[in-house]
Amino acid sequence: MIEIDGSAGEGGGQVLRTALALSMCTGQPFALTRIRAGRAKPGLMRQHLTCVQAAAQVCGAAVQGAALNAHALAFAPGPVRAGDYAFSVGTAGSCTLVLQTVWPALLMADAPSRLKLAGGTHNPMAPPFHFLARSYAPLVRRLGAGVELQLRRLGFYPAGGGEIEATIQPAPGPLQPFDLHERGARVDGFAECFAPALPRAVVRRELELLGAALGWNGPQLREAPGRQNEGPGNALLATLAYQNVCEVFTAFGEKGVSAETVVRDLVREVRAYQVGTAALGPHLADQWALPLALAVWQSGREAAYTCTELTPHAKTNFDVIERFLPLRFSTAGADGCWTVRVRGA
Ligand code: ATP
Repeated sequence: MIEIDGSAGEGGGQVLRTALALSMCTGQPFALTRIRAGRAKPGLMRQHLTCVQAAAQVCGAAVQGAALNAHALAFAPGPVRAGDYAFSVGTAGSCTLVLQTVWPALLMADAPSRLKLAGGTHNPMAPPFHFLARSYAPLVRRLGAGVELQLRRLGFYPAGGGEIEATIQPAPGPLQPFDLHERGARVDGFAECFAPALPRAVVRRELELLGAALGWNGPQLREAPGRQNEGPGNALLATLAYQNVCEVFTAFGEKGVSAETVVRDLVREVRAYQVGTAALGPHLADQWALPLALAVWQSGREAAYTCTELTPHAKTNFDVIERFLPLRFSTAGADGCWTVRVRGA
């Protein structure tokens, strides 16, 4: 039984999700205490509980202590079962984080799976659907697995109601890791505003401000289609595609927050990435660690990537991964360009 202190490092929900994912992949049970002790509202919130339930369903796990607000749980996985699954967060909590919890195990299953996920698709503090589809999924495909994602309906806080479908085709053999040191030449850059229930003038204003700041215009500024019944919500996205990687940066509008503020926040993130040379931005850098580590473990090879920032989130993720897999992460560099290397322990 692997014992994990949920207050270590960042002390957030990622400790739980990474532990669930790797427990399923390796068959090792774990006990997690002080769940999300680093957060203002510690314990299992609805979206974290959905991750536990989804993981338990996919591998027939025996779970103790999984309840709303619980501060400890034990998870003993069974064999991973490919198949058709539907998971609903039941609130506007992020359903992309549920997908990320079960996705690694289904990549290693013996047959394809189809998932329907319901909840928030574009939430602050979680990977938005378009980030998963454009940034994360293409890298997973390069490991040798097949992954297709479709957005059926947008879901924003507080209404939720979003829907995503995912098809996961396991790799025919071991996942194959690869190095990712360079972005390559830039091939595309564009902005989108997803705000189906807001006046078009608000959408246009955000896009024009963003375009003025980034030097983008015409077809680079896209009023994303939506339907009126998809609820209030305002996600402004900047997508930067390079030969080797695609980054999606997102800022969220809220009542009482000016378009200028939303755009300023997004431009700050985009510029922080643009001034660096490393391949991955801060979010991709923490999320890429897990699938790459699985590929390193399965193949017996090593791999590395560069990233513009090494967040506490990423370091915490490395620590949890090392608890489940016989691997070591090492890092070198400075802000703007870090190199992360994963190899056998
Ligand atoms: P909680 O305990 O509240 O669940 P957490 O630690 O799980 O918090 P965060 O640290 O906020 O949650 O991040 C969750 C994940 O979502 C991380 O992998 C992070 O990189 C990712 N993420 C957050 N914002 C974005 C974004 N704008 N684009 C892509 N990924 C994001």
